[in-house]
Amino acid sequence: MRASAYPLVDAAGAAALVLQHTPVLGTETVALADAYGRVLAADLVASSALPPHPASAVDGYAVRAADAGRTLRVVGESAAGRPLSAHVDAGTAARILTGGVVPEGADTIVMVEDTRVDGESVTVPDGLKAGTNLHRPGSDLRAGERVMPAGTQLGPAEIGLAAALGAPRLQVHRRPAVALMSTGDELVEVGETPGPGQIPDSNRWALLAALREAGADVRLLGIAPDRAEDLRKLVIGALREADALVTSGGVSVGTHDLVKPLLESLGTVHIGRVKLKPGKPFTFATVFPSPASGAQIEREQRVHAAPGAQGQGEGKRLAFGLPGFPVSSLVTFEVFVRPALRKMQGFAQLQRPSLPVRLGFHAQAVGDRTEYHRVTLRREGAELVATSTGSQSSSRLMSLAGAHALVRVPPGDQGISAGSVVEALILALP
Ligand code: AMP
Ligand code: MG
Repeated sequence: MRASAYPLVDAAGAAALVLQHTPVLGTETVALADAYGRVLAADLVASSALPPHPASAVDGYAVRAADAGRTLRVVGESAAGRPLSAHVDAGTAARILTGGVVPEGADTIVMVEDTRVDGESVTVPDGLKAGTNLHRPGSDLRAGERVMPAGTQLGPAEIGLAAALGAPRLQVHRRPAVALMSTGDELVEVGETPGPGQIPDSNRWALLAALREAGADVRLLGIAPDRAEDLRKLVIGALREADALVTSGGVSVGTHDLVKPLLESLGTVHIGRVKLKPGKPFTFATVFPSPASGAQIEREQRVHAAPGAQGQGEGKRLAFGLPGFPVSSLVTFEVFVRPALRKMQGFAQLQRPSLPVRLGFHAQAVGDRTEYHRVTLRREGAELVATSTGSQSSSRLMSLAGAHALVRVPPGDQGISAGSVVEALILALP
């Protein structure tokens, strides 16, 4: 029984250990069209003020507030992109369109609806205030101001800001290349008719989706049979091209469970068993792209221990051996793999957000293991109330499908009583 060689580590310690071994990947420059979802590698600093010039917020007339109540001579027009060179002096006005540069001399804009136009003159109302209906230069951002810190994920508004500041490309962290493999002689391709004792390889598709959501660039390796040599060849081939390997299945204590011994032969197994439910057999290793180069690389890395310099090439790779049971593989992905992939991409925020929720049921504790209980949430007044998704069996994907949150139930014999308020990891809000 090999697995007994691995000490049972507690769940929080295991998660910290994974992150400790996880490098931040290097950076690359991407065009704005490819920036969505990426993570800024350097602070974005405003190269110019926003807006760059005083701009009108409405269609109307640029005037001096001191000319309130008077009839003024119109000296020209300032439209967006076509500024007026004339000066607005006392007794004059300039027609102005939304986005047009406020001409020198004018200090306020009167909306066209509030004026009376007669040929080349315009009458403006009483009580004008300077600074109305215009955006002052630098009122959004001053030149030199930090717009977004490194570690910010780029969404529509962030990309829009970069574009408004005239940056056609952004420096972001590389996305981790992850090789994904299912193991097990019982697995068949989804869509094929399973023979006796066979089941569809569902983990591949669940994990592919989870990996993509976490920002990984996934290479699918398909199904590896429970034969040591085949598994070894597939894994070694995959490691040359990937920053990390994710497998599912083959990490229990059975004689067909070949992943742990394989990872041991390729590098160092740091975690072989975790006090976690589901997911006790979760395995984490650092391995080398080719087994022969291991010792030499270890030496080189000690010499050039540049943080962030790791990645594709000859550096160490991360290997995550997830358990085969569908819920176990997804929950261990959540707890261990997702934060690591986010660290690789330079995310400032590695964990799911958490919110206080009131338990609508008694959450049983499970001896010496931390349980991640799957729940749905509903609003009750100002509170979120959690309902269990039912049987928490590690093979029952229905316990995770549609779940809004994970409630961490600490080891012990108390559990968490109904009515308690706990911090839950939010997967999706109702
Ligand atoms: P193992 O960890 O290989 O002992 O697998 C544990 C359980 O998970 C077994 O019932 C397997 O049939 C199931 N399982 C393993 N891999 C997959 C997969 N890729 N898709 C669906 N079920 C799987
Ligand atoms: Mg198996």
